[in-house]
Formats: sequence, structure tokens, C-alpha cells
Amino acid sequence: MSLINLTINNRPIAVEKGSTILEAAKKLNIKIPTLCHLDLHNIKMVNQVASCRVCMVEVKGKKNLAPACATLVTEGMEVRTDSLRAIKARRTVVELLLSNHPQDCLLCDKNTNCELQTLASDLGIREIKYKGATSNHGIDTSSHSIVKNLDKCILCRRCETMCNDVQTVSVLSGVDRGFETIVSPSFYNPMHETACTFCGQCVAVCPTGALTEVNNVPKVWDVLNDDEKFVIVQIAPAVRVALGEEFGMKPGEVVTGKIATALRNLGFDKVFDTDFAADLTIMEEASEFIHRLQHGGDMPILTSCCPGWVKFFEHQFPNLLDIPSSCKSPHEMFGAIAKTYLAQKLNVDPKNMVIVSIMPCVAKKYEAARPELSHDDMKDVDIVITTREFAKMLKEAGIDFNSLKDSDFDHPLGESTGASVIFGATGGVLEAALRTAYEWLTKETLEDIEFNALRGLDGIKEATVKINDMDVNVAVAHGLGNARKILEDIQSGKSNYHAIEIMACPGGCVGGGGQPYHHGNLDILKNRAEGLYKEDRDKALRKSHNNPYVKALYEEFLGEPYGEKAHELLHTHYFKRVKI
Ligand code: SF4
Ligand code: SF4
Ligand code: SF4
Repeated sequence: MSLINLTINNRPIAVEKGSTILEAAKKLNIKIPTLCHLDLHNIKMVNQVASCRVCMVEVKGKKNLAPACATLVTEGMEVRTDSLRAIKARRTVVELLLSNHPQDCLLCDKNTNCELQTLASDLGIREIKYKGATSNHGIDTSSHSIVKNLDKCILCRRCETMCNDVQTVSVLSGVDRGFETIVSPSFYNPMHETACTFCGQCVAVCPTGALTEVNNVPKVWDVLNDDEKFVIVQIAPAVRVALGEEFGMKPGEVVTGKIATALRNLGFDKVFDTDFAADLTIMEEASEFIHRLQHGGDMPILTSCCPGWVKFFEHQFPNLLDIPSSCKSPHEMFGAIAKTYLAQKLNVDPKNMVIVSIMPCVAKKYEAARPELSHDDMKDVDIVITTREFAKMLKEAGIDFNSLKDSDFDHPLGESTGASVIFGATGGVLEAALRTAYEWLTKETLEDIEFNALRGLDGIKEATVKINDMDVNVAVAHGLGNARKILEDIQSGKSNYHAIEIMACPGGCVGGGGQPYHHGNLDILKNRAEGLYKEDRDKALRKSHNNPYVKALYEEFLGEPYGEKAHELLHTHYFKRVKI
């Protein structure tokens, strides 16, 4: 490895040849601000377009200032990040950005989470010096998931890189020229008319309020204050290891008990756990897998818990619609069971029931509106809010989250096993399914239940599991670019997998588009996943088919797993959709 010696602010450092000034400065803990730059190596998202010019630094002997994110270090280089000239240039760039930016921070969804706002504050900007033309693009509220307000766009192109390079969906790209330039779907189409998967990963990396989630919090307040409504809430696994971040806790801190208490304080009539339905999903998915194995059905089976992924294959691989499992996602299964089985048990008219899902995901907002995910003219799930929206509700209600005591979920839809908790991390659904499928097929107890080969942030993970005399080949992909590779292999007949888990978001749902912003720190995703694995280890029951309340549901109501009633309520179908 060849090293390059340089100084930054008079401090010597040796870094690998090919490093940028920005990377060298990071090693010295010298912060050079950036807006467009984002380097998420682990998930292959590197936005290095040097478009914002916020990272300008002075290099001795050079006439012009240099963008630190795109300038390679050279031997003997002397860099100043803190010279008056560099600081003034940086401030001017931000002042120019602000001159064409709505100054409505107080009303903005990204308020306190906006990188432009933070930078303006750090640079001590107190007035908008430059006056001139301002953009007026209007707001795209066409979709159930994402709001696009291009008047807040600073053209950093992070969303484009995320959508094109990581997700390979290619919905967003720069169109038009000069002052008219915008990031847009082709033909300026509204988002809901595109192949967007609503994964929300563009929202997760957008530094400003140009891309945000659809705010459903007012709808939740409305139903909570409507005496006619019986309001049931469920929370997804990944929420419990991320919500604490909004209240100053470390990523991965498990706050399940506090969440249950907080939800009761907010006034929900019943407080349940999507994990119950994740166990139910495994009962159905493992049964479907075994059925296909034993009856020569389509292989490989693909998981179908992730609505972003489902929409992706509907648009991109419409010839493979028979391969994914027909199982609804867990929160949709939950809704279907709540409005039938639970409604009967509680003697509540399901028409008055409102199911609220708290999810790490913005795609689930879109999913809940899919017409086929309903029964007897009732939607399975009525309102979806994200982890971030949930945190806002708690703050609005003045709930001191950190001081809450733990409590349990209600029964019967609040009991879950460790297998369901790990659904929130990439690899977790497949690991949970294997724990059950193995025992059902072999009739033996699976002792070593942690499938470490399926854990972690590698883009595609593989394992072979011996079940009876058969080598079962399985794979896990997270991020839609990795999914595309796997689907292309299946299409060209190269795949020899029996089962594949796919999640649209890098890291799985712990990295969902509705989670607290990670601002480029992927260690946060690792810590959240570790929190889920810890909760799994702490559970008394760790295999879905051992959940006593799920067993009772089949005995009292559903009959056989993968049977007629289960099909009616818990399974769905997919549609061909156009690519544009
Ligand atoms: S939500 Fe996902 S698919 Fe849609 S534009 Fe954003 S990154 Fe692309
Ligand atoms: S929408 Fe956001 S991420 Fe995309 S270019 Fe504009 S500011 Fe950057
Ligand atoms: S990976 Fe999870 S958070 Fe992301 S789109 Fe899929 S279900 Fe939603």
C-alpha cells in the first residue's frame, strides 16, 4: 500500500494513495462540511458529484479553492480547511443555496433533521444576502408514501444515486438545464404513476425537506378522538430498536416495553405487536415452501413481506409473478385477523375498528392502500405511520418517553417468539422460516437455531442447510440492486436456490425509509440489528410454530396452515405493472 504524506491545518497525516482530501481530513477528525457527498460503502452508495461546492478548501500553491470530496491528495500537499478564504467561500455557497430556498424551517417536515439547516446554523448565517429568481415547482403529493417538494431541492443528486445505483429503479434523474434543472421521473410524471417502489431510501438520504414521507399523524389523532372508533395499534419489529434514538438513546436500544406503555397513554384501545403476525407469516410461508417442495411447485420461493420489493418485481420482472410467496406481509395479516377473529372475540363491529400500523417503512403506506388487501369491503390496515411520525406524536402529546415504565402488549395478538423479532433485520425472515421448516420436515428439534451466514450487511448472503437428505440452498438479498442480480439469475436459469429472502431497504427494515435518519452512519443499522438479535435471545420461545396464541388462532378459527380460510384472509396475488 503506497502512502501519501500531507498536512491539513498544519497537522501531518499519511493516507493511502487515491484518498481524497475529505477522507484524509476525516482521519484527523477535522470536519469538512458537505451536502451532496455521501459515501455508504457497505451498500455501494457513493455520491461524489462535487455539485454543492460546500467542501471547498485551500491548497497551497493552487489559485482556485478545491472541492475536498473530489480532490485527490498528493505528496507534500498543504491543505487549509479553516482559512478565512475557505470559510467565506463555504458561507457564500450556502447563502446562494438559501437565496433559492423557501425559508419555512418551522413548518418543514425535516425541521431539526435537515443538513442544510444545520450547516446554515454552523456557519452562523443570519441573513439572506442574495435576492433573485426563486423556483416554483409545486409539490407532488400524488402518492400514498412520498411527498416531493422540489422548491427545497438543492440538486445534490443523492436521491438519484440511491435510486439508480443502489436500488436500480431509476425513477429519479436530473432533467432540464441551468436554473430549470430538477430531479424528476421521466416525462415529469407524478410519483404514483412511476415504477417507484416507495422504499423511501431517497427520503432517507435527502439532506433537505425536498423528499419526505406523507404525514398521517393527523389521521391517527382524528380516530383516537372519535368515540365511535375502536382503535387498535400494532408495531413492527424494527421500530423497537430505533425509536429510542429520537429520545437520545443509542441505536439498537430495545424499548419494546416503553412503546407498549406509550401507546396506551396515547389512548389506543388495544396495543398489539406485528411480531405476532410475523409468527403467523412463518406458519403460512413455511407451509407454502413445504407444499411447493413436496408437490413440485415453482422454485425458488421468494419472501413477500416487503411491499417495496413486491412493487419492484411487479414492474421489473412481471414474468416471474408466480415465484414469490402469496403470503401477505405481516401487518396486513394482522389487520385481516384483527377485523375477523379478534373482532368476534371482543364483540366489536369490525366496521368501527381502525387498524393503525407503526412501521419503519414508507412503502407500507402505499401497500395499505392496495385495493386487494382488504376483506368484506374493509381495508386490512387503515392508517400507517412511520417510526419518525410515531416519535412526533409522542412529543406532541408531551409524553416523557425515557421515564416510562415497561408494560406488555395485550393478548391474544401481542404474544410473539424470537423468530418474529428478527424479521426486522436482513436475513431474519428466512432464518425464522428455516427454524420452522426444518422441524416440520425432519420432526426433530433444531438445536442450533442461529443461522449466522444469513446475518450481516453483505449484499447477497447464501447458505446450504441439510434437511433430511436434501441440501436446501437459500439466499438473502437486501437493497433492490442485489435483488435484481438474483432475479436475473433466476430468469436466465442460473439459480439453484430453493428459498430467497428479499428486502428493499439496505440492512432490511432496520434501515427502512421511515426510520430515524442515519445521516450516513451505517453502524446505526448494525446496532439496530444487534438489538433485534438480543431480543430474540432473551425470548422464552424462539420458533414461530411454538407461539401458543398462533396455535390457538388456527385451532379456534383458521383451521390448517395454508388451508382454505388462511388463503382467504392471509394470502394475496400480484399484478403486472409497467416499467416507466
Ligand atoms: S422511493 Fe425508492 S424507488 Fe422510489 S424514487 Fe425513492 S429510492 Fe427510488
Ligand atoms: S431531492 Fe433531495 S436528495 Fe434529491 S437532489 Fe434534491 S436535495 Fe438532493
Ligand atoms: S425493507 Fe422493510 S422498511 Fe424497507 S421497504 Fe421493505 S418492508 Fe419497508
